[in-house]
Amino acid sequence: MARIVMKFGGTSVADLDRIRNVARHVKREVDAGHEVAVVVSAMSGKTNELVGWVQNMPKVAGANHSIYDAREYDAIVASGEQVTSGLLAIALQAMGINARSWQGWQIPIRTDNAHGAARILEIEGEDIIRRMQEGQVAVVAGFQGLGPDNRLSTLGRGGSDTSAVAIAAAVKADRCDIYTDVDGVYTTDPRIEPKARRLKKIAFEEMLEMASLGAKVLQVRSVELAMVFKVRTFVRSSFEDPDAPGMGDLLNPPGTLICDEEEIVEQEVVTGIAYAKDEAQISLRRLADRPGVSAAIFGPLAESHINVDMIVQNISEDGSKTDMTFTVPSGDVEKALRVLGENKDKIGYDVVQNESGLVKVSVIGIGMRSHAGVAATAFQALAEKGINIKAITTSEIKISILIDGPYAELAVRTLHSCYGLDKS
Ligand code: ASP
Ligand code: MG
Repeated sequence: MARIVMKFGGTSVADLDRIRNVARHVKREVDAGHEVAVVVSAMSGKTNELVGWVQNMPKVAGANHSIYDAREYDAIVASGEQVTSGLLAIALQAMGINARSWQGWQIPIRTDNAHGAARILEIEGEDIIRRMQEGQVAVVAGFQGLGPDNRLSTLGRGGSDTSAVAIAAAVKADRCDIYTDVDGVYTTDPRIEPKARRLKKIAFEEMLEMASLGAKVLQVRSVELAMVFKVRTFVRSSFEDPDAPGMGDLLNPPGTLICDEEEIVEQEVVTGIAYAKDEAQISLRRLADRPGVSAAIFGPLAESHINVDMIVQNISEDGSKTDMTFTVPSGDVEKALRVLGENKDKIGYDVVQNESGLVKVSVIGIGMRSHAGVAATAFQALAEKGINIKAITTSEIKISILIDGPYAELAVRTLHSCYGLDKS
């Protein structure tokens, strides 16, 4: 017997038929004797619709930035999950399964006060654990919690992944199964490289890099939580026949396990290739090379909530002037240029240049820590394809390379094959 948290995303509960199909997945695990809690998203498209309604309401007279009251936003957008949790509980009951829906406030899932993008602080798991032990399936509304002001809060878009991992940690589940519309995590985006392979296992750190770089399978925050609490998280498809052979296999069901690196016996040097589109590069020319220059640049950018990613500074030739290049999301370029302009005297640069439409491709793998030459292989492979590199940054487990947008797909395929990821 195991304790399992099963999470179903919006496409998996998109209509009543699919909710009945989800109930069959749950029944399979219950029939196998496991203790089960389920976390659901809203029906696909529902949250967007609710957000749209909020945005179309009249604005408070005189309000400049906050266009609506974040507490009422949460009250409205949290309703999508309330509906699916109730519907799934009914579908389960119809199959003879003892099931009960739970809203975030009923558990409660306590969050901070950041309405619209709240963080989970604490989950009181005892009640759910007791009911699971009594054989009742808890169907929990994802995405929502209870703020310190005693009001509904929501966790930010895609937040029901985080609900699921947090509940799995709170009830000490053996596994958190994230059912979605893809059947696992791939070595790269299969739409770009059809030879991409589904990974059997991926380490938390690697998945965090993949998710942060735009592999949209999981909310980044959920991977952080899984890593901190060592929640073995399994990405799998809800569209496979719930009763197909192997689906209820406890040790090796079809999908990708995100786990501690120690659980990965045959560690590859490189695990995956990720990419992030719409990057922009900003260069400050002929800066004074003195203490405090970086602080003068990146302090004001941070205060303006501009997410700076790669930073490259040149060693100056004569010890007096240098160049600084960094990247931001394309959508933030104008704001960044404005901030830099306002601080020109404090920073002390000559000119600022910028270029948008760039792409960052990244090679990820914890095996890199103990292997030399991984970066050189990438550079050589890109050179052979005539792809120019604009900037490079590295970490222990990642090499990120900035290139021109039109080369993105070629670069992804080139890197994917130069490490043999296309061979099983
Ligand atoms: N329904 C919410 C959203 O669309 C939460 C989720 O699906 O994870 O963002
Ligand atoms: Mg999602």
